Formats: sequence, C-alpha cells, structure tokens
Amino acid sequence: MDLMEYQGKELFRQLGIPVSDGRVALTPAEARAAAEELGGQTVVKAQVPTGGRGKAGGVKLAGNPDEAEALAKDILGLDINGHIVRTLWIEKASDIEKEYYLSVTFDRGEKKPLFMLTKEGGVDIEDVAENTPDKLARLHVDPLTGFRPFQARWLTFTAGITDPSEQKQVSSIIAKLHAGFSSLDAMLLEINPLIVTPDGEVKALDAKVTIDDNALYRHSDIAEMRDVEGDDPQERMARERDVTYVKLDGEVGILGNGAGLVMSTLDVVGQAGGKPANFCDLGGGAQADSVVAALEVITSDTGVRGILFNIFGGITRGDEVARGLLDALDRMSIDLPIVVRLDGTLAAEGRALLAEKAPGNVHVEATMLDAAARVVALSR
Ligand code: GDP
Ligand code: MN
Repeated sequence: MDLMEYQGKELFRQLGIPVSDGRVALTPAEARAAAEELGGQTVVKAQVPTGGRGKAGGVKLAGNPDEAEALAKDILGLDINGHIVRTLWIEKASDIEKEYYLSVTFDRGEKKPLFMLTKEGGVDIEDVAENTPDKLARLHVDPLTGFRPFQARWLTFTAGITDPSEQKQVSSIIAKLHAGFSSLDAMLLEINPLIVTPDGEVKALDAKVTIDDNALYRHSDIAEMRDVEGDDPQERMARERDVTYVKLDGEVGILGNGAGLVMSTLDVVGQAGGKPANFCDLGGGAQADSVVAALEVITSDTGVRGILFNIFGGITRGDEVARGLLDALDRMSIDLPIVVRLDGTLAAEGRALLAEKAPGNVHVEATMLDAAARVVALSR
C-alpha cells in the first residue's frame, strides 16, 4: 500500500524524523485557511500516491493565502500519472540550501534491507545510480545482527557528507528510518529531497512510504489511511468481498482456482484470440458464497462479454464445484454466456450435474483450450 506524502510525513513525525508543519486541505477555501494559519510562504502540494508531482505541476510555492487559494484551485482535479488530485497538503515553505536523497527498501536479491544515500537529491535516483554510481552510498543491513550506529556514519562518509552537524543529523535520521522500516513493516521509506536549510537544519521535505499489504492487519491505523475513493470501483468491491481480483481491459471475465491455473487461463484465452477483462482467483475452494462474490465483481465490469469458469479439482471436488456454481446462479441472475471447464477429482460427476441442471447460458467444455475458444466465440 502506497501512502500519500502527508500520511508518510505523519509517520515520520512519530518516528522523530524532522518534517515541516502543514495542514490537509480539500478545497481552495481550506487551502487559504491553512496558509493563513501557517503564516508566511507556503507550499501547495498535490496528494497522490505517486512521485513526480513537482514535474507534473502539482507542487507550487505560494507567497500568501490568496496565492495558496488560487494554486489550490489549479492543482485540485489535476491528473498526475493517472491519479486525480482530491487532497492537498499545505506546508510551511522551507529554504533549501542542499537537496540529498535517502531511502531504505528491500533488496530481494540479497534478502536484506538496503539503504541508499546520495548528495545528488531532488533528481531521479535511477539516473544517479546509472550515471554516477560512485556518488551513491549503498549499505545492506543484516537482519540477524541488526542495525549498528556505525553503519549510519559509514553511509554519510561514503556519500561525501563532510559537515559534522549534517553527519550527526543525517545519521540520526538513518537510525530512525531503520527503526520505522521494521516497526511499520515497510517495503520502502524514501526521502527525496532530504534537505539542508541555510541554518544547517536537516529535514524530510518529501515522504514516500510503502507498507507491505500482507502486514496491514498489524497496522489498523495505517490500513485506515487507504484512499478508497481513489481506488478502482471493482477493486474496492473485490477487497470488500475478500475476492482476489485484477482488472484488465479485454472482454472475457476469468474465474479460476489457484494463481497458476488462472495465469495459464489468461494465456489460453489470448491464444484463442480473446482478451481477458479481469480475473478472480477463488483460491482452494469453490463454495457458493465465494463464487457469488467473484461473479458479482466480474459482472460489475461493463467490459465483460463472457465468463470463463476454469476449475481444476484437486482437493476441491468437481461435484462440489458444480453445486457451488448452480447455487450461485440460483442466487443471482446473469445473462452473459458462462463457459465452464471442469477437470480433476470427480469432474465427470460435476459436468453431469451442470449438463442436467444449469441454465441455458452455461456451456460445459472438457479442456481448457476448447473452453477458451468457446468463450472467445461467445464474447464476440
Ligand atoms: P515530487 O515531485 O512528487 O517528488 O514532490 P516533492 O515533495 O519532492 O517536491 C518537488 C520539489 O518541490 C522538491 O524537490 C523541491 O525542489 C520543491 N519544494 C518542495 N517543498 C519545497 C519548499 O518548502 N521550499 C522550496 N523552496 N521548494 C520546495
Ligand atoms: Mn520528491
């Protein structure tokens, strides 16, 4: 889950990482009020869970509350990399002397957290890594020995930060970032830019925070920060119903059990000349409740012309799957063609049940390829 800057900064503040004072604003009038309260120069910042806001015109300096209000009007509603701006963060403006970059993320190859620090902040870190790799200090933290204060000092020296006060402040921020990385179950904590003010104060001017979705149950306060309005309506519906769902842009809705089978179903539909509209993974079972939930999500997508229900019975029995589907179709009405491929344990019994009892829009096929060809033809 990607947090917005103001949410990330709130977590930074709780970790003791210096950030500027600011207010959330949802309207130009609120932006003006925030600027009045903060006083002096402010920065009006679009809140979307993506970077590159500055370049997209989503970060602007305001000299007074009038300007803050006018800028808020301009920035609200902007589309930044596919995200519509509905929230602003009005922050007390900082004077910038230097812009550094600091982050900690997972290095999956090394299976360890990786810190990166460079004095070349404010630009794309990928460019620094590519063009001037010697300016980028990188350090893995071994989770078995844990983080040691000398590692923070090593990073600052290696990045070429020579001022003792800066070294001290940056080292302290690195230690806090490490503590937060584990306590928050984060996948990424990134500060770009980490600035030095003319007074020599080091602080986080931006905050990019990604929390591991699988750990959100341990962080209900963070889980609540999710921007439900910004989510795709189908994906929101799926999450509310506990359905694993991915939206694509074709015309065949796909329902299967198990990630591997679902992935190969996508390929086979492609091979048959069709395009998947979405897919749902029922996981191990195919109980009527979960089939109903998945079918509701799939059919709420207006692009869907036909549905491919692809089940391989391992532990799940074919007759149970068939009963689950029949039960689901009893409880909801679907006019779209539904092609069922049922194989594995007691598949013949399942297919017989469907042939006998299923409504006319349900077509049963024995192989995946035949089922894909059928659903593609019926979706035209
Ligand atoms: P991003 O473009 O999404 O990474 O958004 P940032 O929060 O990093 O802001 C983009 C740029 O705006 C920063 O790199 C700064 O150069 C500039 N900026 C942001 N806040 C301030 C501020 O308080 N004062 C000044 N002078 N510039 C700022
Ligand atoms: Mn930034």
